[in-house]
Amino acid sequence: MKVTIVGTGYVGLVTGACLAELGNDVLCLDVDSVKIDQLNNGVVPIYEPGLSDVIERNREAGRLRFSTDIPEAVAHGDIQFIAVGTPPDEDGSADLQYVLAAARGIARHMNTFTVIVNKSTVPVGTADKVRDIVMRELAVRGVESQFTVVSNPEFLKEGAAVEDFLRPDRIVIGCDLDVPGLRAKSLLEQLYAPFNRNHQRTLFMDVRSAEFTKYAANAMLATRISFINELANLADRVGADIEQVRQGIGSDPRIGYSFLYAGCGYGGSCFPKDVRALMHTAGEQGMELNILASAEFVNEQQKMVLFDKIRHHFDHSLEGKHFAVWGLAFKPNTDDMRQATSRALIAELLRARATVSVYDPVALDEARRTLADDLDPDSYEGIRFSRDRDATLQGADALVILTEWKEFKSPDFAHMKATLKNTVVFDGRNLYDPVSMKKEGWTYYTIGRDAAK
Ligand code: NAD
Repeated sequence: MKVTIVGTGYVGLVTGACLAELGNDVLCLDVDSVKIDQLNNGVVPIYEPGLSDVIERNREAGRLRFSTDIPEAVAHGDIQFIAVGTPPDEDGSADLQYVLAAARGIARHMNTFTVIVNKSTVPVGTADKVRDIVMRELAVRGVESQFTVVSNPEFLKEGAAVEDFLRPDRIVIGCDLDVPGLRAKSLLEQLYAPFNRNHQRTLFMDVRSAEFTKYAANAMLATRISFINELANLADRVGADIEQVRQGIGSDPRIGYSFLYAGCGYGGSCFPKDVRALMHTAGEQGMELNILASAEFVNEQQKMVLFDKIRHHFDHSLEGKHFAVWGLAFKPNTDDMRQATSRALIAELLRARATVSVYDPVALDEARRTLADDLDPDSYEGIRFSRDRDATLQGADALVILTEWKEFKSPDFAHMKATLKNTVVFDGRNLYDPVSMKKEGWTYYTIGRDAAK
């Protein structure tokens, strides 16, 4: 099948590459000519495990192409996916300008029956807005092409995006039940047929429910994280171990084990913005989503829990202290720094006149850019970026861990002891066994496991 992807970011690029991997003929469009040039020269602009191989293989096979040419892209696809960003506006709502611009671009060049599939995360009712824009553009052109707007939200996780796309838990498709909608349904059934061979994974529903489903999923996951984080803070006070509690509750199939790991807060490009956008949608209806408001509030506080432990340990005096920081990306296996906890925590350490040596296996370059934007030049001076994990420990008063990269899980503790000034670790991701750490002479701070015996 011929597929066009409008927007070649995390979602668009992974979608395009994986659909090409299944044998489709894919053209990825982006307005960012630097990105498209990089891709055409074999450079993949984001870090995502396995993605470069899939792109390279399919580019060589001629099934995956990249372009900035809108007419060429619109003429190419039987299906036009929109996968552009929907960043938060100042009031928390999803900024739809890129989605609507993408729709306008399609409408200005389409000449036959067109299926517009929205993959971006968008508020309920956005398909109607896309439809209105397309109708307006067609009217201006005096063209009478039939089209339909489908919602097909994306559930892939950064860091495991290729795997998730190729082995989805479910594929949600919202389409109308009129003739163009049913025609689109049949095309998408065909496109996604390879995913349904083992069992049916595609869920068809109405467009608004599909749009809502994406927000409901992220809201649920964010709530679980804030729930366990709040209980972890209580566990620290009452002398319980949140990890043992997680296992105790997770064994109940109604609860399950996943997404109940205590830590120093969620970040990324999705949870924070999607939680806020859903609250904004509720606000427009005169409703408050109290559970989500609390999940967001708890998360903002959670980003500072480790800082409070650090400050308390050093008697509220961090001036002149130096910290090794391991992990900058908002989660492992990605270089994405959007809303990463590291940004808030590093800013706070620098504000307290401490300095930091930071290391991340893949996010260092992105971190340099992001932190330069976040901080004033004087504060930024307080950061030393290192490509050598262990070198960050030299002369540091303590180690702070902010992302659960695999390579942090079994470090050389003897070397760490010999290099750090003090045997102190502040672990925002609960990577080590607190009992053995204490036995080995470490002062080991965790999220909800400080009292573990
Ligand atoms: P991104 O910022 O990485 O990529 C968006 C791309 O769209 C950019 O390359 C940008 O240049 C391009 N673009 C903007 N306007 C355009 C236009 N008019 N025509 C062509 N290209 C245009 O964003 P992302 O992380 O891929 O997210 C895209 C959408 O998918 C968002 O709505 C997001 O919420 C959702 N989503 C993201 C993830 C994730 O893990 N990143 C997961 C699921 C859903």
